[in-house]
Amino acid sequence: MAGGEAINRCPPGGDATILALAALLDRDVLPLDPALLPSPAPALAFIREEDCIGCFKCVRACPVDAILGAPQMMHTVVAAECTGCGLCLPPCPVDCIELLELAQDSEPAWSRDVAQRRADARRERTSRELLSDRDAREARRAAAALRARRAQTVRESIDRVRARRVAIERGRDNGFGN
Ligand code: SF4
Ligand code: SF4
Repeated sequence: MAGGEAINRCPPGGDATILALAALLDRDVLPLDPALLPSPAPALAFIREEDCIGCFKCVRACPVDAILGAPQMMHTVVAAECTGCGLCLPPCPVDCIELLELAQDSEPAWSRDVAQRRADARRERTSRELLSDRDAREARRAAAALRARRAQTVRESIDRVRARRVAIERGRDNGFGN
């Protein structure tokens, strides 16, 4: 999104997320992308596991943590958690995710309340991870600055000792000392 992608493509995040993103990225507030409004036909994502290359991109895209997998490993959709939003499809580099339309009258396995709770939990976890990444970056920067200050102090001490030696040797040459 920081690169310009749409900020209105998160159905579980709803208007609150669109408003927060618009403020954060200084962008216009838009209504939720109508293509992502609940579909009249319930759907379920399905990963063709034999084609999956384990890139993890779909896991990052799923707003309700309905995809299981680890980097370089096969991934799979937890059918009972998938809301059929389709957000995992575009990032897949090998197009191995399909959105299966379910029977019009089929009861979805997921509930809106549970999906909202999972989306909230995911948002909290993501912001904690971002914060801890930022803390780690600041700690690395502080450690690098400390190392640079110490190196500078050592260089200054060496320069002072050299200057003192030169002064003593010049004093000897001019008949002072001894
Ligand atoms: S369709 Fe939506 S809820 Fe289902 S796995 Fe993909 S991103 Fe997650
Ligand atoms: S984005 Fe596609 S290839 Fe990558 S882990 Fe998910 S299903 Fe597998």
